[in-house]
Order: sequence, then structure tokens, then C-alpha cells
Amino acid sequence: MIVIFGSGIIGLFIAKKLLENKKKVLIFDTLDVSANATSASVGMLAPLIETKPYENQLLSLMIDSKKLWDKDFKENKLANLVGLKKNFSLLIAKDLDELEEIKFKKQFISRIGYETQILDKKETLKIEPNLNSNIEGSLLFNEHNQVEPKLLEFFLKKKILSMGGIIKKKRSLQSFKFVNNILKIDDLKFSAEKLIICCGAWSNKLLEKSENISFPMRPVKGVSMIFKTEKNMFKNNLWFKHIYVAPRKGKKLAVGATEDEKGFEEDVTLDEIFFLSKHLWESLPELEKLKYQEVKAGLRSTVVDGNPIIGELKHKKNIICSFGHHRHGILLGPITAKIVLDYVLEKKIPNKYCFFSPKRFNL
Ligand SMILES: Cc1cc2nc3c(=O)[nH]c(=O)nc-3n(C[C@H](O)[C@H](O)[C@H](O)COP(=O)(O)OP(=O)(O)OC[C@H]3O[C@@H](n4cnc5c(N)ncnc54)[C@H](O)[C@@H]3O)c2cc1C
Repeated sequence: MIVIFGSGIIGLFIAKKLLENKKKVLIFDTLDVSANATSASVGMLAPLIETKPYENQLLSLMIDSKKLWDKDFKENKLANLVGLKKNFSLLIAKDLDELEEIKFKKQFISRIGYETQILDKKETLKIEPNLNSNIEGSLLFNEHNQVEPKLLEFFLKKKILSMGGIIKKKRSLQSFKFVNNILKIDDLKFSAEKLIICCGAWSNKLLEKSENISFPMRPVKGVSMIFKTEKNMFKNNLWFKHIYVAPRKGKKLAVGATEDEKGFEEDVTLDEIFFLSKHLWESLPELEKLKYQEVKAGLRSTVVDGNPIIGELKHKKNIICSFGHHRHGILLGPITAKIVLDYVLEKKIPNKYCFFSPKRFNL
């Protein structure tokens, strides 16, 4: 039996992968957390837009995961089930300064080996006629599409249960004891081959109380909103300087996201709604046509070097970490599950993935 702590998107991807490889899986989650990252996320699958100059290993991980998304989910029936779109992403330049910025971004992306396309104002408005008419142009990223996290979560949970996986929710799940393959949680006792820690921003809390170890990481709060429109306004994902907008099924638009260091605060606050509304107002016309549906807060788990932690602990090899996915957990779900499976099966981990191991923090 493999026991997974955390049923966010990372825990779910891993559970599905393990069950497909004939492992028995029990997932524990807690009832004490409401702002998990997965339920607030927008679901963009956009490795090149997200990459920064000093993040080579992370970019390669994101690209590998995007390939798995394309391979495993593109088949139409599955794509529909998880809301995987066939659309692209446009980085919009609202003024001449932003036009220079997207030209610079194009150069950077070209230097790392990928091509994008600058569209002028007329070409951009031809693709997206409902944008503001005073934009200056855009940068087109082919194949940078998106998925709907709620549908994805539903799909994965259904699959896991149908393959015999078990998902349990518990109050006050703050620590465990794991010695000689016996797992103790309060008065529960199990025999377990391995434990996998996927508690997102809360992973450190669980590890500190259970194993007395701590990683240099912190929660980074994000808020997203959903609006309903009268007609389908946009075909593609639109990325502005401070916000992004993703069209969803049922004439909906998902808008993300704030990024704040507010500790473990889980409530949505007015400054966050103001931030998103202000930048929406500066980016799109006719806001009166957007009908408010939902606002969600989520805590991203963010490691000091910006990379996720995936791999076994040095002092207890049968505890595997899988957290710290920051802004990219939906995109990175498939590749994370593949790497964790290799750790569970005790296969040799490809060199490029060893980088993400807890060993980089000597843990
Ligand atoms: C506003 C916002 C927008 C985002 N947009 C995107 C995007 O467009 N594309 C993208 O790729 N990523 C995006 N992300 C990032 C992505 O959502 C996260 O990286 C991903 O959801 C992390 O998944 P997770 O399973 O690690 O963590 P979470 O989803 O946070 O799940 C952690 C789980 O652990 C459980 N847990 C906590 N403590 C315990 C415990 N003691 N025992 C057991 N279980 C416990 C929690 O209840 C929760 O279910 C966004 C994030 C936010 C906040």
C-alpha cells in the first residue's frame, strides 16, 4: 500500500499513475484547509510564457509535462472531459511600451530555441475582435492552451475510485509516525510501503511535526475570479501585464491572479478583488457585460529557488516529497506523477530530474 498525503492535483495525478501501475493507494486529506491551490487555479498550460531566464531546469520540466498533456489528453473524448482546449495564448501589448516588451520576450524565447509570432494590431483584432480597439499588437504562442481544474479534479477522482483507490478526509491531521513501514495517524495504524507528501503549501507543517525537518518554502497567496458573459467573447487565452483571462465552457471567463505573501491567510480580501477588477478594467472593454460568478483564494507552495521538490528524503527513503509547484502545478501534474512513480518503483531517476530532489537542500 502507498499512502499519499494531500488530494490536490499533484496527489491525484500521482494516485492515478500508481494505480495504473498496479499499486494499492490510500489518500489522506484534511478537512481543516479551504484555500488549496488547485481549486483557485486557472489551468493554463503555458511553459514558454511562464519561463524566466534563470530557470532552465524548470523550463525543461514544464516542456516535458506539456508533451505528456498533449500525448495523454489530446484525444478528443478525454480532452472534453477535463476541459482541455485546442486554443492558443496571446500576450497582449496595450501600448507602445508593452509592444517593446513583447518584442524582447520574443527574442528571449527565440534564444532558448522556440519560435513565437508577433501579430500587429489588425492581425490581433482579427483573431480576437472583442479586445479593446486601442491595443498595439500581441505575441502568439501556439499550443499554449488550458484545462479546467475543476473538471480535471473530478475526472481524476472518478478514475482513482474506479481503480480501487481510497480517498479519506480527516480533521486535525497534523502529524504521522512512520517506522519500519508502519504508519500511525492518531489511533489509526497501517502497513505502508511508501508515503508520498503532496500537501502543497502545508507540506512543511506536516513534515516539521512528523519528521522534524523543514524546507525553505512559503505560501504565496493567489486569488482568481470567474465571470459569465452573454456570448463567447474570446477564443484564446489572453495574457496582459498583470492579469490573464481564459475562456471556459458555458460562456465563462476565468481571470487570474494575484500574488501576495500573506502567510496562511485563506480568506479573499477586498484589495485582491480590487487588484483583479482594476486590471480587468484597464484591459478589456464593456466590463458591464461580465457577470460575477465566483472568487477563490489558493495558497501556492513556493520554494526559495522557485523549483518543485520531487524525490525521496535522505534520512528516510520511503518518504517521497512532491510539493513546491508554485504557479505551475496543473501543467506539471503529469511529469511529477511519472517521476514519483520511478521513485516508488525504485528505478534510476533520469539525471535532469534528480535536480528537483530534496538533496539540493541536504534533506
Ligand atoms: C490563483 C492561482 C492560479 C493558478 N493558475 C495556474 C495555472 O494557470 N496553471 C498552472 O499550472 N498552475 C496554476 N496555479 C498553481 C497550481 O494551482 C498549483 O501549483 C497546484 O494546484 C498545486 O497542487 P498541489 O496538489 O500541490 O497543492 P494543493 O492544490 O494546495 O493541494 C494540497 C492538498 O493537501 C491537503 N493537505 C494540507 N495539509 C494536509 C495534511 N496535514 N494532511 C493531508 N492533506 C493535507 C490540502 O487539503 C489540499 O487538498 C495557480 C495557483 C493559484 C493559487
